[in-house]
Amino acid sequence: MNFNQFNLDSRLNAGIKRAGYEIATPIQEKAIPAAIAGKDLIGTAQTGTGKTAAFVLPILHKLLKGQRNQTRALIVTPTRELAEQIHQTVRELSAGTGLRSATVYGGVGAQPQVQAFQRGVEIIVACPGRLLDLHAKGQARLNRVEFLVLDEADRMFDMGFLPDVRRIVKAIPGKRQTLLFSATFEREVEKLARETLRKPERITVGLSRPAHTVSHALYPVPQHLKRVVLLELLKKTDTDSVLIFTRTKHRARRLEQQIGKAGYKATSLHSDRTQGQRQRALKGFKSGQFQIMVATDIAARGLDIDSISHVINFDMPDTADAYIHRIGRTGRAKRSGEAFTLTTPDDADLIRKLERIMKQKLERRELDNVDYSVPAPPKPANVRRRGNRSQRAGARKKRPHRSQRGK
Ligand code: AMP
Repeated sequence: MNFNQFNLDSRLNAGIKRAGYEIATPIQEKAIPAAIAGKDLIGTAQTGTGKTAAFVLPILHKLLKGQRNQTRALIVTPTRELAEQIHQTVRELSAGTGLRSATVYGGVGAQPQVQAFQRGVEIIVACPGRLLDLHAKGQARLNRVEFLVLDEADRMFDMGFLPDVRRIVKAIPGKRQTLLFSATFEREVEKLARETLRKPERITVGLSRPAHTVSHALYPVPQHLKRVVLLELLKKTDTDSVLIFTRTKHRARRLEQQIGKAGYKATSLHSDRTQGQRQRALKGFKSGQFQIMVATDIAARGLDIDSISHVINFDMPDTADAYIHRIGRTGRAKRSGEAFTLTTPDDADLIRKLERIMKQKLERRELDNVDYSVPAPPKPANVRRRGNRSQRAGARKKRPHRSQRGK
């Protein structure tokens, strides 16, 4: 479907052209007409499907009618990087319309954000915590909001943000149009949707299945040989743009150093880095200054980097859904990509589940130049055993929520 079939305001043509969109993606084909018709929507779509433009375009279309200089659209999203990315999409698509957008999130000065509300910037893209802080101080004017987008609702749930999201919903007028997007629908997300949306239309594309342009391979390896296998794998790979995931920020930091020592231009993205460092890492990775970025799930959630050729899971994620989100960053919008995963025997259950969801057996590979029989170095006596995946999951319940752990 061509974009002019949507009858969008002609002032949006320049932006659509600038973004280089010609044919609408399936989610856009379904969501744009429904949203223009004023319906509340529940969109089941993973990143990489074009879902950002699917909600941004109808909102811009509607904002072009009616008042300026007041905040009429609020987009709530879990991470700062995602907020920046949506903001950039809004800027690109709204080029030449005079509509303004601003981001609101923690870790940076609040003053420009307060001023954005004072100036009545039409679109605010916010993470829940800072938005509520400003609202509590009377600095976030939300009483004119007509369009609310809850993006990546499942991840907001994972990160413990749903109580904050509910407070935000209470703070904006009940007479509004609400669009909610999520890759999966746990009971809590369904509950939020029931409370927040009116007679929503459901739109589903590619329900939690990875883009078919990605090929997957597993590299079974004992835990202590992961680094050796990774470095060997990098040697065999065209390392122009490789995103590597680790389970923790400590492992991300260590791996970045080790990869750097091996001669690659590497950076990392995790919550121990300042906002400025995170932005520089991302910018440098996008521009090609860095070939490799090592990231944790939370930091890299939903990132849209056009040219990623390979995603490597140094550690298997905790859930099948997280795997799908991670590899959603390669093979985007018809480009092909490869996803490599280093797996240990602990990962067996999750791999079975993934293969069920993806309806395919994942290829197991071995590298010729690695001696897999090298024994693990003896453990120092005072180091506790880590335990298997299910024990880790059990232990996690007692730990503070992910959002407080700062991955
Ligand atoms: P998203 O799922 O919103 O993260 O979008 C994934 C990528 O697809 C982004 O790089 C978009 O710029 C791109 N994209 C979105 N819509 C289209 C389209 N209709 N044609 C080509 N690329 C698109």
